[in-house]
Amino acid sequence: MSFSQKDVDRLLAECGRMCCICKKLHQVQVHHIQPLSEGGSDGIANAITLCPNCHDEVHERSHYSSGCTSRRYSISELKLHREFTKKIARKEQDWAPGSRTWTEDRHLILFYAQCLDRPAFRTYFHQELSFADFDRALADTITAINTGCTKVGDSTLPISKGKVFLIHRDWREAMDTAVEKLEEIRDALRRELGLNNMFMDHDRFGRHHSRFHQATDLGDWIDQTRQEILDSVNSILKELDQPPLKDLKAGF
Ligand SMILES: [Zn+2]
Repeated sequence: MSFSQKDVDRLLAECGRMCCICKKLHQVQVHHIQPLSEGGSDGIANAITLCPNCHDEVHERSHYSSGCTSRRYSISELKLHREFTKKIARKEQDWAPGSRTWTEDRHLILFYAQCLDRPAFRTYFHQELSFADFDRALADTITAINTGCTKVGDSTLPISKGKVFLIHRDWREAMDTAVEKLEEIRDALRRELGLNNMFMDHDRFGRHHSRFHQATDLGDWIDQTRQEILDSVNSILKELDQPPLKDLKAGF
């Protein structure tokens, strides 16, 4: 058994073809919130749209899987995600420059821009002094864009909201891509250099130098990737009549 085509069409339209968890638009699938094997129905009330990644995760971490230590997806949580997604899709239809939803999006974009306005995005890789600080800055930026929380001293405070709250899908996709790129940079640092290597070496003259500074290919790729992130956010800022972020070329 499966959902009727009519129900699936309606659900896809109501959710704006978004994945109800991560709000991405690609390759959306329709999942039974309560499995058929547990008495779930083929009615639309039991259906949710999910992308392949979130679909796998829901299967791995759902209320009916065993041996799972991280927080599981409950039926009621999945239904809340679906209702929230429908709300985003409805708001999207009202989105126009100057509208209330546009103003809310604008606040979010300005917050994310502020999070990217830091030395970690304006210093060439080969000039970085502390890779631990650099990595931490990237991690904090990812958290801020994902959750709206920023580090203030030792505490993390909810200042704004995460990128899933963006209504304009182009802007949401731009921020999704920005976070993916930041995660790739962090992965590359770990994979290619290992953050255990971040201490400074001494050469035979007793001078300090860092092995990181010799990794030119990686450095060039990281510089280029950060510039791509800034370019994409700067194009949104331009649409909002806001000044662009300073980039690697501008320096401090
Ligand atoms: Zn998803």
